[in-house]
Amino acid sequence: MRSSPNIIEIKSLNKIYKKGDIQIPAIRELDCSIGKGSFTSVIGKSGSGKSTLLNLIGGLDKADSGRILFNGKDMSSFNRKEMALHRRTSVGMIFQSFNLIHHRTALGNVMLALAFGGVNSGKRKKRAMELLSDVGLGNRMDHKPTELSGGEAQRAGIARALANRPVLLLADEPTGNLDSQTAEEIMALLTGLNKQGLSIIMVTHDQESATTVSDRVIRLKDGQIIEDKKVQI
Ligand code: ADP
Ligand code: MG
Repeated sequence: MRSSPNIIEIKSLNKIYKKGDIQIPAIRELDCSIGKGSFTSVIGKSGSGKSTLLNLIGGLDKADSGRILFNGKDMSSFNRKEMALHRRTSVGMIFQSFNLIHHRTALGNVMLALAFGGVNSGKRKKRAMELLSDVGLGNRMDHKPTELSGGEAQRAGIARALANRPVLLLADEPTGNLDSQTAEEIMALLTGLNKQGLSIIMVTHDQESATTVSDRVIRLKDGQIIEDKKVQI
């Protein structure tokens, strides 16, 4: 198989939510390719389909029709086991509300992700400590999410997302709950990860940060791409 320069190739993708008799098309005939090593921002009004698109790429949800090729592999052909593996090891996800497990410490959250990724128990603690140090949280590992600031919680979320060495990071409004100074620090962390070769797709409300950190900005409206711009950085 010829290796593609794209980590993601999306063809005629459709996702329709059904609520009783009502059908809500969230993604409509969407086509898009995302290059390996790129940093793409996805913007658009609330309800335009941004989270749905990330969830489909992340394997949290299944499309109704169309295809997503991940590193050349058609995700619609994945069985449950392959999809679980995709979620645990191929992609990492971070969220606006961090989605950490509340009764576990930062270290515990990262160790759990490592367990899901199949890292054996003897190696988890050391690796989790390294991951947390790498994101600047070396001195807060034993804190639970409620004992962390928003920025610290997002750093823990990033460490968890990176636990199983994903090739693609999906970020859904990662700075939506943060003040502007902290948001800048998180953006700088993401930029650094991208420079190390990690591909990133980030949904954001913040058009300014989209154009400063990413090399491409895609605008969604009603589940379709209405604008797709390269950014000089
Ligand atoms: P965004 O992230 O851009 O705000 P979403 O992807 O969350 O948008 O939602 C796209 C559309 O799909 C919206 O109209 C939303 O109401 C609808 N939607 C999202 N999730 C669900 C769901 N689980 N059930 C029904 N409709 C949904
Ligand atoms: Mg959303």
